[in-house]
Amino acid sequence: MIYAAPLLFLGPDEVIEHGALYVEGGRVVATGREEALRARFPEVPVRRFGTYLGPEAANAHTHLDLGPGPTFKGPFMDFVLKAVFPKNAARGVGLAKKAAKIAPQRALGDIAATDVKTLEWWLLEAPFSGVVYWEVLGIGDRAFEERLLADTKALIRRLKRLERPGGPRLGLSPHAPYSLTPRLMKEVVALAREEGLPLQIHAAESPAEAAYFQRREGPITEFHRRKRIPLDLHPVGLSPIQYLAELGVLEARPTLIHGVQVDAADLQLVAEAGVRVVSCPRSNVNLEAGLPPYDLYQARGVPLALGTDSALSAESLDVWDEVRFLIRQGVAAREAIRWALAGHGVLGLDPPAIRPGTPEAELVGW
Ligand SMILES: [Zn+2]
Repeated sequence: MIYAAPLLFLGPDEVIEHGALYVEGGRVVATGREEALRARFPEVPVRRFGTYLGPEAANAHTHLDLGPGPTFKGPFMDFVLKAVFPKNAARGVGLAKKAAKIAPQRALGDIAATDVKTLEWWLLEAPFSGVVYWEVLGIGDRAFEERLLADTKALIRRLKRLERPGGPRLGLSPHAPYSLTPRLMKEVVALAREEGLPLQIHAAESPAEAAYFQRREGPITEFHRRKRIPLDLHPVGLSPIQYLAELGVLEARPTLIHGVQVDAADLQLVAEAGVRVVSCPRSNVNLEAGLPPYDLYQARGVPLALGTDSALSAESLDVWDEVRFLIRQGVAAREAIRWALAGHGVLGLDPPAIRPGTPEAELVGW
């Protein structure tokens, strides 16, 4: 069989236009331009895909423990209050296993919260590679923070031992700039560096987050006011990215999730720090954040990867649905596909590749 597509990717940065693969005995035997392969194997039937042929993508950001949908549509803080908070009680390994069944990619960056069993399942038996990040958040007094930090330290030291050679790694995720005090954010980041753990942080996602940091206004500010959280907890007048940069967090080279509310100056900081950003476009549109300024990302040379985010804010856990969505939004197919294949690198995995000998079962076409 010959498989052919307008864009054949042999790796994240290796594209053959009108490319094809000759497959025999369940393995790739030859790769090249479709014309050339058909001339070489004239009797072999050809199966054509509409856009893409190549390796499987990585879903660099999700929350399996929030379970399958339904998909919420509305502003970010409404999403948190109406969709995430009610699900928090059930959040854990049960929902994660259900969501795993609808997650087609095997390389994931998954954030787990609340239930330590989710981490144990991930590290011991989940059918994924990549990173499971333990989420840390909460605003309280110093005693609360010290306890949270000590518990986190004890937890990661115990769970780090469960990592299998070649299996998923344990990571840490201080949730977002507004949901930890500057001090706790710094401490969690320092802990990750000390323990050699990868970091993911949600940043510059909603207009509410930008309004909170820049002007101390909007729905996150209102939420803090209602919860009697001091409004001078974080500095005012900075963008979320500037805040993370000033705190020294970008030096730890976390992966930033979302990066929607950013300007050229923010992306300059991100580029200088060598930080990578995972974009979750369908979630951003469903939660009324808008799309990231992709042209600015390209102009500043900030590497992007893609994630679906949870099934509560995206219609599926398939990262190819993000790619197809981006193409419909006018992003060049080649670029969007490259981002989907860049997720492995963000998760510390080898980049995916198609070579002579690659099993046919590892091919994806659409
Ligand atoms: Zn998320």
